[in-house]
Amino acid sequence: MLTPPDTDPLTPEDRTLMGPGPSEVHPRVLRVMSAPLVGHLDDSFIEIMDEVQELLRYTFQTENRWTIPVSGTGSAAMEAAFANVVEPGDTVLVPTNGYFGGRMASMAERAGGEVAYVEAPWGEPLDPDAVADAFHQHDPDVFGFVHAETSTGALQPNVPALTDIAHDNDAYVIADTVTSLGGVELRVDEWGIDVAYSGAQKCLSCPPGASPLTLSDRAMEKVLDRDSEVRSWYLDLSLLEGYWGDERSYHHTAPITNVYALREALQLVAEEGLEARWERHREMATHLKEGLETLGLELNPEDEYWLPSLNAVRIPEGIDESALLRDMKEEHNLEVASGLGDLDGEIIRIGCMGYSARTSNVELVLHALEDALRKQGYEP
Ligand SMILES: *Cc1c(COP(=O)(O)O)cnc(C)c1O
Repeated sequence: MLTPPDTDPLTPEDRTLMGPGPSEVHPRVLRVMSAPLVGHLDDSFIEIMDEVQELLRYTFQTENRWTIPVSGTGSAAMEAAFANVVEPGDTVLVPTNGYFGGRMASMAERAGGEVAYVEAPWGEPLDPDAVADAFHQHDPDVFGFVHAETSTGALQPNVPALTDIAHDNDAYVIADTVTSLGGVELRVDEWGIDVAYSGAQKCLSCPPGASPLTLSDRAMEKVLDRDSEVRSWYLDLSLLEGYWGDERSYHHTAPITNVYALREALQLVAEEGLEARWERHREMATHLKEGLETLGLELNPEDEYWLPSLNAVRIPEGIDESALLRDMKEEHNLEVASGLGDLDGEIIRIGCMGYSARTSNVELVLHALEDALRKQGYEP
């Protein structure tokens, strides 16, 4: 029997995505995803690869030759960074101030690294003095930090203060820019970031599947000088060089449709202009923040490290958070998310990313949230 269309999961209701990702995909990106396939070594596809690399350099604000989309989601680009840069026996310094620092630790360990920690509470950024102390104590070879911590809504301000410490100690810096690329100010070269990775489904508003990664020549030299082979064949950058470098020879079949999508998403970034796009995220998130304040709610982070692309809102006393999220979904077809880890039960997380960062979506969030709060007897 045929499933009636109204219960077919492939015919989704018109859900508004305002959570920590995926964000809503721009209609132009959806459209290119129905374009016919060509071969992954076809001349026309090679032209597309060149364009994607050039657009990625612009979006990362880098001249790095080594700038590619990794096949897979943001975690694949993350694993490519750690698996290649970290050699067995390297000490890797990672943060404790959110969920994704923990993932860095797991990946560094699997790459054979010794993990050391720089401490900061969940919801706060790293303090440069604490980073300097940790360098003094552990003398790490690689330092990872999260520029935009999606689990807490905290932005790492003053990135050059951190990269300077690392470079004074001859270490390499890996930055998680999954929730900042294309959404908040990020300048890979100017800020001295050696390696940055990101994802497609956050501020780029593209489906997950091809994920940005960039490495400086200095970082790539470390990778190409390794004594031992990278443990992952699939993510080994010395092999991927054959496909994404000058040679353009087969390594694995690129996710062609995802590369089309990423090209269109990055084209949209270039058309809008990177700085105008950062400004739009800030403007839309400010609108959201002011509306939340009118409702008597407050954001968890201080203004100085507020992350416009992910707003962590403190839940008022006595409010049942899961009923809040359920009401917003059932009554308003709206997706936002709960807190994680140390902030579980204390915050809800409202994304303001890419194509989702627009006035009508922000107003829907404020309306739905007020409705759901009033249902529980809350008076703004
Ligand atoms: C989403 C996210 C990731 C992981 O990306 P996936 O696409 O889910 O694999 C890594 N770091 C941060 C900060 C993220 O927000």
